[in-house]
Amino acid sequence: MATIIDGKALAARMRERAAADVASLAERGISCGLAVVLVGDDQASATYVRSKLRDCEQCGIRSFDCKLPADTPQDELMALIAELNADPEVTGILVQMPLPAHLDTEAVVLAVDPEKDVDGFHPLNMGRLVRDLPGLRPCTPAGIMEMLDAYGIDPAGKNAVIVGRSSIVGKPMSLMLLSRNATISVAHSHTDPRELARICQSADILVAACGVPKMIKGPWVKPGATVIDVGMDRDEEGRLCGDVDFASAEAVAGAITPVPGGVGPMTRAMLMTNVVMAARLQHGL
Ligand code: NAP
Repeated sequence: MATIIDGKALAARMRERAAADVASLAERGISCGLAVVLVGDDQASATYVRSKLRDCEQCGIRSFDCKLPADTPQDELMALIAELNADPEVTGILVQMPLPAHLDTEAVVLAVDPEKDVDGFHPLNMGRLVRDLPGLRPCTPAGIMEMLDAYGIDPAGKNAVIVGRSSIVGKPMSLMLLSRNATISVAHSHTDPRELARICQSADILVAACGVPKMIKGPWVKPGATVIDVGMDRDEEGRLCGDVDFASAEAVAGAITPVPGGVGPMTRAMLMTNVVMAARLQHGL
């Protein structure tokens, strides 16, 4: 039976660490503040935002809850971001995605001050990642790296397969594992489906981030491999599940993340860590 990687417990420890860091920055007169911008009334996004605001409260981070109506024009959203960029009380800015279709997401990502970009989506921060320079990293893959480290899983020299190549998960994940000296394969929707199982079977570290419920089955997993399930999907009965068929994969894997209780809580906790890092950056620390 595989070791179950307990993202919930690790995330709680990360939040404690973030709270201690926030307190020690406060002693030096530096406050941490996160602005969360939500455009529209998408229920899932509103739930994510509420949990982020709760995490801030727990860590002693001041939060700025910026809600805008669904029909907000681009220039109003850009004006709000400019205001937040200029506000010294706001050390981190997160624009909840996805934005309503009429808004230009790329322009919004570009508008956020890279030093306040706690999502790590700005091209400058992405570029720093590509060049192996320190900087703000996207929360989901950064949280996964924390998990691997906490469980003593060293990527160096291992074969890592990432299923999915999105800008927020798959691509930055592959770069982070590459910079820790793993050998990387990235699969996507154009990967020959007949080859996908074989590619996954080569993985010592298999990261599933494709958004297809339970696509990765036990026989696709190399015995003893580490399986990281990023997926947050719904099964046929409408229950939350991952991209990995947990029951069959757990029987083969060496270590595996559950859904829920794996990657999700680490993503949230990493956001708090990034808010602290952003505040430090802005004060030259
Ligand atoms: P996304 O933007 O939809 O990207 C999905 C990726 O998977 C794309 O690169 C796509 O390929 C690839 N893909 C789709 N079907 C495939 C298939 N049959 N075989 C191989 N590759 C396939 O999704 P995302 O934002 O990266 O999120 C992925 C999953 O993680 C979702 O379930 C999402 O809800 C979840 N998620 C969870 C967290 C968390 O904190 N737990 C955070 C973010 C996302 P193409 O590029 O060719 O289209």
